[in-house]
Amino acid sequence: MGLTTSSTGRGASADSTARRYEAAFSVALAGNPNVGKSTLFNALTGMNQHTGNWSGKTVSCAEGKFQTPIGTYRMIDLPGTYSLLAHSAEEEIARNFICFGDADIAVIVCDASAPERNLNFVLQVLEAMPRAVVCLNLLDEAARNGRAPDLTLLQKQLGVPVVGTVARKKKTLTALTEAIDRVVSGKEPPCPEKIHYPDAVERAVELLSQALAKFELKRLNRRWVSLKLLESDLALSAEITRYLGYSLLSDPDLGAAVEKVRQQLAIEGFDLTHLHDIIAACAMRQAEEICREAIPNANARKDTPRKPLDRLLTGRVTAFPIMLLLLLGIFWLTIYGANYPSAALSALFSKLTGMLSEWLIAIGTPPLLHELLIDGILGVLCRVVSVMLPPMAIFFPLFTLLEDAGYLPRVAYNLDRPFQRCNACGKQALTMCMGFGCNAAGVVGCRIIDSPRERLLAILTNSFVPCNGRFPALIAILTMFFIGFSGGLLPSLLSALLLTALIVLGVLMTLTATRLLSVTLLRGLPSSFVLELPPYRKPQVGRVLVRSVFDRTLFVLGRSVAVAAPAGLVIWILANVTVGELSLLSHLSAILDPFASFFGLDGVILLAFVLGSPANEIVIPIMIMGYLETGQLTELNSLSATKELFLANGWTPVTAICVLIFFLFHWPCSTTLITVYKETKSRKWTLLAALLPTLFGLLLCGLINLVATTIGF
Ligand code: GDP
Repeated sequence: MGLTTSSTGRGASADSTARRYEAAFSVALAGNPNVGKSTLFNALTGMNQHTGNWSGKTVSCAEGKFQTPIGTYRMIDLPGTYSLLAHSAEEEIARNFICFGDADIAVIVCDASAPERNLNFVLQVLEAMPRAVVCLNLLDEAARNGRAPDLTLLQKQLGVPVVGTVARKKKTLTALTEAIDRVVSGKEPPCPEKIHYPDAVERAVELLSQALAKFELKRLNRRWVSLKLLESDLALSAEITRYLGYSLLSDPDLGAAVEKVRQQLAIEGFDLTHLHDIIAACAMRQAEEICREAIPNANARKDTPRKPLDRLLTGRVTAFPIMLLLLLGIFWLTIYGANYPSAALSALFSKLTGMLSEWLIAIGTPPLLHELLIDGILGVLCRVVSVMLPPMAIFFPLFTLLEDAGYLPRVAYNLDRPFQRCNACGKQALTMCMGFGCNAAGVVGCRIIDSPRERLLAILTNSFVPCNGRFPALIAILTMFFIGFSGGLLPSLLSALLLTALIVLGVLMTLTATRLLSVTLLRGLPSSFVLELPPYRKPQVGRVLVRSVFDRTLFVLGRSVAVAAPAGLVIWILANVTVGELSLLSHLSAILDPFASFFGLDGVILLAFVLGSPANEIVIPIMIMGYLETGQLTELNSLSATKELFLANGWTPVTAICVLIFFLFHWPCSTTLITVYKETKSRKWTLLAALLPTLFGLLLCGLINLVATTIGF
């Protein structure tokens, strides 16, 4: 979830590394969350920006370009926001770009089936950026609900072009690009309807506008600047100064004029501390008036009772069992479905590696280099790909389908209360869900949380839920020690059930760790946030498949491969350089042994976790290598042979339980840790992100081991 090249990798930040296109014009794409902005952006620019269904999902700005008869446009997809009042990081990014981004035009996307929710935002944008087109998307849904708005009337009321679109159907976007061209080329100069303020405010704005006449304001709108001066918004004044390159208020005449009009307003009975709210309320009122005329049943939705499906999926009694069942279903499909392609890939890779090895020998490659390439680097790479690719290729599309259909916001809604109880934010539930796919993605996703304290809570606890990379190892140990090797439907169901139980344990520990941090290092009250439950929508299966393969599966795989290759090299050196009779690997595991046995593990197991830091999927092969004392990563022919080896090296069911627990709770993989550092810019928090789950893991393993030895198990 939320794992895209624009949100996680290159161009992850709003101001950042985004590519710049040679384009004649720039377009700011603005709108409330969940109105089809990303779909529209993708359709126009052909980019694979991922769509999701909750507020604040797009926390960075993606860029793309499109062509029209009059030229090339660079389109910037702003974070979905409900207002431009800059209460949150997303609103600030959107506001700053609309006001100071020097865009040639803004496209304001609204939900045609409920524009009454969006028009307030439209009026706010038009006030700051009159060069705009309003795009009423989801016209098909509006028509289905009998609520298609009167576009001509709306256009008359707003004073800017209003077009209707169905973003899922590309051909409906021609009206939009034509309107953009008309505005940009000056053929249809927009003349937006002003927001009507009380007479006294209007007089004050007029006076300030006159005082501003002598200043060069670049592309800023004079009426908007007057309003902001009147409101005395310090943060915004600083932004205006930064944009203009000089401070307006350092001009004594203007400073005096602002002071005078504010005093006059106070005399006329206005509470200056609430001027901001009074001004905001005017936009709301005007939006309501426009809706009453142009939209059928504009207020009908307000009192709509909760739909039956929502009563079921978010109901007090039903919500959690359904969530668990769905989780179970997804895991079962992932586990059951991944077995065969995993085996096939593994066989294919071993054949290819064999051929490459023969070729290397034939061209006379030195033996050491040959071993290093084949057994070291390629050995680890092939294992990572064959173990990781199939489950990811099943898990991510299933997860994205749930997301696209609108179920995930319901998950966040259901989990909101437990997180609030831990003094954290309900949005953490979403970042936690992202963690199931990939913890690094979950950590980046924490940007959707506005409060820095709550964001840090979510970042530090994200790796308490296992990512995809840990599932295969968990399943292998569950199968070897608790399910058996008979195969078939029942064992795979049991395996999914036990895995779900482990995940639930992960969620409980996430809550515990969050609570612990919020009463110690990160004290504070939970903030409130708006979580809109979007309507259920039929997911676009084809696009979901394509997107989840390219945006997520290949992205995660690429990153794992990048860390697995050098790791393969280090492991090979440790296993092949000997001191005395034994390899470095054996020496190191002997050193760790006494410490590890205290926690129900042994030196080989602990060392495998340390060396497996780049990718959890190589932990078990390293264990096998350690026990067999071979110089290369080893996969035994079957799980039963692996079990035999483990038993011969002193494993008991208690060892298996401790290894499972330690797989769940230990330091995050190196990619995740690097991501934590990038997000927090702090070594201290990065260290804590590694220590916290490890301490939980050691504590639990120590306890289990203690109880087991006490009762003589
Ligand atoms: P964003 O949050 O504004 O970026 O919205 P998205 O682009 O993520 O769209 C939310 C959901 O609405 C997705 O499931 C889209 O497939 C769907 N969607 C977007 N535009 C349309 C449309 O015009 N008609 C219909 N029926 N669905 C749409």
